Amino acid sequence: MIVVFLGIPGSGKGTQAKRLAKLLDVPYVGTGDILRDNVAKKTPLGVKVSQIMKNGELVDDETIIELIKSEIKDKPSFILDGFPRTVAQANALENLLSGFGKKVDCVIFLDVSDEEVVRRITGRVFCPGCRREFNLYTDGLKEEKCPVCGGELLRRSDDTPETIRKRIGEYRTKTAPLIEYYKTRGALNRIDGSGAVGEIFSRIREALDNKFKRQTAN
Ligand SMILES: [Zn+2]
Repeated sequence: MIVVFLGIPGSGKGTQAKRLAKLLDVPYVGTGDILRDNVAKKTPLGVKVSQIMKNGELVDDETIIELIKSEIKDKPSFILDGFPRTVAQANALENLLSGFGKKVDCVIFLDVSDEEVVRRITGRVFCPGCRREFNLYTDGLKEEKCPVCGGELLRRSDDTPETIRKRIGEYRTKTAPLIEYYKTRGALNRIDGSGAVGEIFSRIREALDNKFKRQTAN
């Protein structure tokens, strides 16, 4: 089974995609993780990507497609998160999969408002002391101190309201046509992305159960 997650950066799709991968016991393929891994290891691709990300921009199609191809070629089933982001990438994915006699079986589109995304992302903090991550907003922290070790909490440099709005704008322009693309292929499932993580996950399971007419698991 091949499932694709769509949603604004900050919609919570990474969390949901990983949870679904665990439930279905299939690999999670997230471009964010793959890119961060390359940046951390300072590979030639990682160096290029880190500059692009610093500017709050998206990595070009050719680079991403190469990366995805090498990740999925040996996997019969997987959950994709962060790819495709454009119709051009969706076409590339379709071509790639049809070469293996496969297709995208299901697309989960997590629908969340801009305001909600800005609020969630600006709440993201980490503790440089114990390396834990928190969300001031969803974890309900009263002050910007680590609840575990008491250290001062910091924000990621690219999580300012300006860069978040820039990312949302790019998303709307480049990836909104994807929703139409997968709708015409009968693969799209629009899921209300508001509320608690568990609630959203229940909606996703329900959509999958309806789609495949069976229980995904208990
Ligand atoms: Zn800490």
